[in-house]
Amino acid sequence: MKIDTKVIHAGQQPDPLTGAVMTPVYQTSTYAQKHPGVAEWEYSRTHNPTRTALQDCLAALESGTHGVCFASGLAAVDTVIRTLDPGDHVLCGDDVYGGTYRLFTTVFAKYGIRFTFVDLSEDDITIPDDTKLVWAETPTNPLLKTTDIQQLAQKAHAVGAILAVDNTFATPIFQRPLELGADIVLHSTTKYLGGHSDVVGGVLITSNDELANQFTTLQNSVGAVPGPWDCFLTLRGVKTLSVRMQRHDENAKALVAWMRERSDVDRVIYPGFGGMVSFVLKGDLDAAVRFVKATKVFTLAESLGGVESLIELPAIMTHASVPPDVRASIGIDDGLIRLSVGIEHIDDQRDDLERAFDAARQ
Ligand code: PLP
Repeated sequence: MKIDTKVIHAGQQPDPLTGAVMTPVYQTSTYAQKHPGVAEWEYSRTHNPTRTALQDCLAALESGTHGVCFASGLAAVDTVIRTLDPGDHVLCGDDVYGGTYRLFTTVFAKYGIRFTFVDLSEDDITIPDDTKLVWAETPTNPLLKTTDIQQLAQKAHAVGAILAVDNTFATPIFQRPLELGADIVLHSTTKYLGGHSDVVGGVLITSNDELANQFTTLQNSVGAVPGPWDCFLTLRGVKTLSVRMQRHDENAKALVAWMRERSDVDRVIYPGFGGMVSFVLKGDLDAAVRFVKATKVFTLAESLGGVESLIELPAIMTHASVPPDVRASIGIDDGLIRLSVGIEHIDDQRDDLERAFDAARQ
């Protein structure tokens, strides 16, 4: 089955009770048991039919056999690191989402997990022998650097490490890391999968039974589960993922081509696919602040991946939790502007940015 069909049907059957075409919101904490301890469904932290439908759908989209959903993307990141032991070493991309960096360096470092941050977009990367987990975001947030997943998976496996890929920016429409040898795929479903900026969630997908078992045990033991409404919203959002991504991609490509011709833009960063674009204006930080405050179609807000366009300054907003010297060392300039290009009409997006270029000059 093609992915454009899977986004609509995978993991979902008409409701067995009523035939409802859309998976219902099973808004219940518990389920009646026929005999003590004998029941298909017991308690909604452990299992919920709306969540199961979403998990199965997302697993199918990433060509995995198990999907495990969480209350946020960071709760999913947290779950992967909880499978490690004190002293274990994680090799991590140096340009990851600020919240992931904060979780690794302030929460888990305290428990003796060791993190090293390197540029995983380099081809000649060496993975130290003591590495248990390689953590790659590709494209990265916000510099949109890409990693050769196939090569990285081979190198990780050669030292006995597993490879986890945060595929939030690419989505399974543009990249399916499990097919390239990765062991775990993570999404903040808050972004493109949900697609409408109305729900926060996360998912881990794998085809490794042992990892899946650890994830579901942690999901139940730690309890950071998404509620049935959140699962329903995400499941509904996913149905249009394929058509939305086509439009995000088209619009972003058109804006990138237009911005690359402008003399008032210092550099445009675009990985060649998808809806995320970063750029640096000529001029100082004040000019960048005037720019992001002037747009109307592009809302000044954190997050990304919704149908509506968003604009932000990573150094002050999404990546404020990364220390300034670390930001500077990896190239996140204070004036770097990140666009999440939505699916509005391209003319309205371009007019909006044109107004912002005017405002930045004043
Ligand atoms: N991964 C990436 C690439 C992100 O951009 C984000 C959030 O912005 C996360 C993970 C964390 O997801 P959440 O905000 O759903 O916890």
